This record gives sequence, structure tokens and C-alpha cells, in this order.
Amino acid sequence: MKLSFKVKQTLTKIKLSKKDKILVALSGGKDSSVTAYLLKKFGYNIGGFHIDLKIGKYSEECLKKVVELCKMLPIPLYVYDKKKEMGSGMCYLRTAVQSSYKANKKGQLKNCAICGVIKKWILNREARKIKGIKYLATGHHLDDEAQTFLLNILKGSPSLSANTGVITKNVKDKKFIPRIKPLFYVLENDVREYSKKLKLPVNYEKCPCALDSYRIQVRNFLETLPGKDKENIIKNFDRLEKKIDKLRGKTKVDYCKICGEPSRNKICKKCELLNSCK
Ligand code: AMP
Ligand code: ZN
Repeated sequence: MKLSFKVKQTLTKIKLSKKDKILVALSGGKDSSVTAYLLKKFGYNIGGFHIDLKIGKYSEECLKKVVELCKMLPIPLYVYDKKKEMGSGMCYLRTAVQSSYKANKKGQLKNCAICGVIKKWILNREARKIKGIKYLATGHHLDDEAQTFLLNILKGSPSLSANTGVITKNVKDKKFIPRIKPLFYVLENDVREYSKKLKLPVNYEKCPCALDSYRIQVRNFLETLPGKDKENIIKNFDRLEKKIDKLRGKTKVDYCKICGEPSRNKICKKCELLNSCK
């Protein structure tokens, strides 16, 4: 099945309206660029949002590609300067969090885990500030989702997959912007080929910080499998989705006592991490 048709089917499944304002989280990489390209091509009302993480030359190149893409589509672009807004770039902040965790003997925290928590926090908070945003779209594809599903099984916590899927469920709160994943059923290789065929402005470099994560070991394993097997992992997820959701039940949303953002606990994950290095 053609990539664009698969994405169209996915969007129909979510019942998105062409009037709904969607903010696409653009990293400068191929996945989110293809996501924005297709949403625009199908006539959705989109804008782009980029977090400039200030990871040296890598971030400079990402920003350049995002600016180019938004001009080409054309769509409005919002840029969040991580250093200006939070006082430091991602590398500095991450190192501080990691060393304090280690010093407090709380174990080792992975680079991608810290960056992921902070990016999600920024995306939700900033999307809310832009008038009328109904959804946040990310470039997660089938390979990402197969990794997450498998990782949660390996951790012994399949119920952690409850909030994943094409659209975030379970969390219903006025401060929480639902996230959608238009590329959920598309293999990474197909996304790469598509972006190259269309010559989209993309930074194909990998993030220099993505070094040590357990996720990468799982990704390397999945890369040894044919696409069909990865698709089967997602088919399993689809079949089990309702049962997994029941395992977890409705997520009770509270607001973080420090930053006021929606959180499952009294203190959100981002504040827990940042507080650990004060
Ligand atoms: P990653 O966790 O880096 O694989 O990214 C997953 C998705 O998060 C991407 O497809 C983007 O939609 C979004 N994303 C990642 N990095 C950024 C960024 N610097 N700015 C905005 N969105 C991002
Ligand atoms: Zn917080």
C-alpha cells in the first residue's frame, strides 16, 4: 500500500477535521518533515513547532532544515530557544541531571529519556499558548512504536503501552493537548525513501547525544527483522490495545505542584528531574 494512502487511512481512523488546528513537532529530521508535508498535502490546518535544543552544529542544521521546510510548504513556524527559555542547552542540562542522579545513588539515567521528558513538557506547554491548537502531531513511525511496545514488554510492564497508539487516549484534561502520530503504520525505511524522493529539506544526521540507550539495543535487534515482522508487532498491539488500556484504567490527571503542568503524580517528571540537580 502506498505510504500516503496509509497515512490518509490513519487520519480517517482518528476522525480529524480539516478545520482542527494541528501543531506539528518538527525536529528537522525526515519523520516529522514527512508528517508535516502529508498533513499539508491533505489540506489540514497546520503549523510547525521546533525546539532548538542547542546541541552545537547538529541543532543549527536542524533549525535550518525546519525553516526551509516551513517556507516551502508554506506553514507558520514557532521556534522555542531552549537556552533562552530554560537557561541552558540540552547537553548542559542533561549532564547536570545525570551527575546529580548518580551522586544520589539513584542509578543511571539515559540521555534520550531525559531529553524526551523535557521535549514533551515543552511541547504541551507551548502548544497550549498558541491559540486554537487542538492536536500535536509527531513523526513517530511504525519502527518507533514497535520499539516502545517491545521495550515495555521487556520491562515487564505492557500496561505502559496504554497511552500510546495513533492518538493519546486515557488523558482527558483541558491542559493536555492530545498527541497524534500520522506515521504510526509506516515503516521507517519507507519514510526515508519518501523524503528522499520528494527531496524534502531534512537533516539525516543522527542526534549526537543518542548514544547509550537501551532503546538503541532494541532498535538494532528490530533492524535485523524484515518489515513484515515489525508490522506484526504492531498488529499484536492493535489486537491487545483495548485489554492493555483496561489494565491501566483512566489516567488520573493532577497538576504538578511546581510548574502547574498536567501530571500523573504530585510533581511532574520534568520537575522531578530538574529538581534533582538543584
Ligand atoms: P525522537 O524522540 O527524537 O525520535 O522524536 C520523536 C518526535 O518528536 C519527532 O518525530 C518530532 O515530531 C518530535 N521532536 C523531536 N525532536 C524535536 C525538536 N527538537 N523540536 C520539535 N519536535 C521534536
Ligand atoms: Zn512540573
